[in-house]
Amino acid sequence: MDGENYVGKLNDYAQKTRSVLYYKELGSDGSDHSKTFTLRAVINGRVYPNGVGKNKKEAKQNAAKQALIGLELQDPGYSTADENESSTSGQPNGQLNDSLSSFNDKMNHLGYDALQVQSNFNSQDGMIPYLKVNGNIKKTPSENSSTHLATASFTADFDSVERLGRGGFGHVYKARRKLEKRFYAVKIIRFKEKAQREVEALAKFQHPNIVRYHTAWTEPSEYKSDSSSSDSDSTSQSSSSSSAQYLYIQMELCDKKTLREWIDEKNGQQRDHKRREEGLTIMKQIVNGVVYIHSENLLHRDLKPANIMFGNEGEVKIGDFGLVTEDNKSDENLIERTKSTGSKSYMAPEQRSHSTYDRKVDIFALGLIYFEVLCNIFTHSERSEIWEDIRGQKPPTGFALKFPQEHKLITSMLCAMPEDRPEASEVKTELETISLTPVGAQKKKLCWII
Ligand code: ATP
Ligand code: MG
Repeated sequence: MDGENYVGKLNDYAQKTRSVLYYKELGSDGSDHSKTFTLRAVINGRVYPNGVGKNKKEAKQNAAKQALIGLELQDPGYSTADENESSTSGQPNGQLNDSLSSFNDKMNHLGYDALQVQSNFNSQDGMIPYLKVNGNIKKTPSENSSTHLATASFTADFDSVERLGRGGFGHVYKARRKLEKRFYAVKIIRFKEKAQREVEALAKFQHPNIVRYHTAWTEPSEYKSDSSSSDSDSTSQSSSSSSAQYLYIQMELCDKKTLREWIDEKNGQQRDHKRREEGLTIMKQIVNGVVYIHSENLLHRDLKPANIMFGNEGEVKIGDFGLVTEDNKSDENLIERTKSTGSKSYMAPEQRSHSTYDRKVDIFALGLIYFEVLCNIFTHSERSEIWEDIRGQKPPTGFALKFPQEHKLITSMLCAMPEDRPEASEVKTELETISLTPVGAQKKKLCWII
């Protein structure tokens, strides 16, 4: 520590600007001899980079220092502001600054400790990312006098762009990053609250069954598709709104085939004796991912086959964290959005109708996914007939006989009352006990009648 009282300075700032300041403890790492503590400052909901120290006090000083650096970058000269001046801090893009500043500490989780990207929306061109190394702005050798060290630009930095998907909120492209000649998936969404939550969650997660986040940046316009593409969608009109910002999320590239396609393929095959076994392997991985998400005190809220992807080795990768939220929290905006844009088919009853719900909504969705993974449904009309029944714990005839253990587990996951559904960790344990040996010659004959 350099002896400066950063905590005091930050308190002064908070008082002057009537800001709400608090510190969030993020726990400790290492053995007793070399323990480090991590804290971060949150000002008016804006999260600042982590401060690390040998004790909580030192970590707090460092967290305050990080926040002061962040504040200085966003609003140079703030420290001389009086109350009136401070009220002008709500610049049009102030909220976006709020959101982006929180990327930094999330990136730490992924090993980007030293390298952080901070953007400044006060600049005329919408965004100027800085490379921040250990809290100091560092200049690259090629830019001696400028503080603008790196600009991220999808069109400049990537080539071989190909659209992968178009979801309710944005577009996802496969693109090759020129620098490392590697392909990634880049999701582009309007930078609103959903976008912030999605990127915060992704950056925080580090799990083999969750799509891996690499980095994110904003641009004042959305990527315009090639004119030869059949897009008649929003890409061509995307930059029309001058205040709009688009968030580009670079993540690992998964297989084009999602679990949705896997299920559809299996349904098309009529009889596939590997379906049950493969389905179990898939479910175990999805549940592993969900156990992890819930252990982070978050819920996904939009689990459905189209949001379950596969990695290079066929391993499950849960994606689309656009509706992620903290557990046990009521958030009117997001709930409203869930009702109007989330996938109703997989929504738990209380998610459809109540204003509060918890992680058990994910369990309900998982129960439906497991059912769909196993059950051969031939046509859309058959699916719609079956669907409401299974949501009410009534599987089609023969299902219970064919899949006795799975049936028991699935119906428990589809309990109407959230508290009656098992926790993700309990589902995980149950899945481990599912035996794939035939249930008996007689019952075997019944196999694949569904
Ligand atoms: P929605 O809300 O409608 O489900 P969305 O706009 O939130 O969609 P995603 O679900 O994240 O977007 O992505 C849309 C589609 O893009 C996915 O179903 C998948 O096909 C594809 N996709 C998303 N991320 C990746 C990735 N990392 N690798 C490969 N494909 C991806
Ligand atoms: Mg999706």
